[in-house]
Amino acid sequence: SIPLGFFGGIGLASKNGILVKGGNYLEALNELDTIVFDKTGTITEGDFKVTEVNIESGHSRQEILKLAAEVEQFSNHPIAQSIAAAADDYQKHSADSDYQEVSGAGIEAVLDNNRILAGNERLMQKNNINFKKVKSTGTAVYLAKNGEFLASIVISDQIKTDAKSAFAELRTLGISNLTMLTGDNKATAAEVASKLGLDNFYAELLPDQKVAKIEELLKKSKKLAFVGDGINDAPVLARSDLGIAMGGLGSDAAIEAADVVLMTDEPSKIVTALNIAAKTKQLVW
Ligand code: ADP
Ligand code: MG
Repeated sequence: SIPLGFFGGIGLASKNGILVKGGNYLEALNELDTIVFDKTGTITEGDFKVTEVNIESGHSRQEILKLAAEVEQFSNHPIAQSIAAAADDYQKHSADSDYQEVSGAGIEAVLDNNRILAGNERLMQKNNINFKKVKSTGTAVYLAKNGEFLASIVISDQIKTDAKSAFAELRTLGISNLTMLTGDNKATAAEVASKLGLDNFYAELLPDQKVAKIEELLKKSKKLAFVGDGINDAPVLARSDLGIAMGGLGSDAAIEAADVVLMTDEPSKIVTALNIAAKTKQLVW
């Protein structure tokens, strides 16, 4: 017979701002024991604020922020937007400029014949830049020009307001393993994981290491969902039993690769999705 309950469930989900791309995904929602979350933009707001600018010499704070923003204008990463917001005015370059986004690392660009790098430790190491490591917590963006280290910009993010209650509810709904994966540094990840009482977290992962970690976790779980929002989350979303994209600010690649898309980027929407899936099950079987 035609599974009318599935259509009802999908319709109810859509009324609640949850796009479910097929009835089988409602079924999968009912069987989850593990949910793995990306950190930035998924658990945290992805709304970074510049909290520190450390300058080597010969530049003002405003010059540093402007140069960083010139490079970061080519990225959609939440980090990039925070730097653009902190630099009140900066030179705009055309979209076909010579630049490359290095996922899990930062941005490289050639602007006015200068090679500029803006990104994390990994990006600096890869380019043999002699940089000064930031000690304070937060996410550090290191800036280099023509092979020379110029400055570090420290930015901080906040945990989404509904994350803590959503995670507590997921536990009562039978999710026994709540895990976080991130490309961000260990200290920042540990702070988020302890505040939310997560079971596990894995930090400083490159996009392909996130996929490898998912492969490993898939073997240990009954049914695993991954929740993410970024470009480099797409392979992980595709590989998981169930891929859930935060669609409000999420990248097109993530939305495309996902099985379920949350139209607003609230972790509590996952609780709603699980509740709708449970209700649908009663109607179908
Ligand atoms: P997450 O797993 O937390 O979503 P990403 O994989 O998107 O993080 O990025 C991992 C790390 O790569 C960031 O914490 C940051 O250090 C660096 N990074 C990524 N994109 C940028 C960018 N546009 N500018 C500076 N640093 C970046
Ligand atoms: Mg992300």
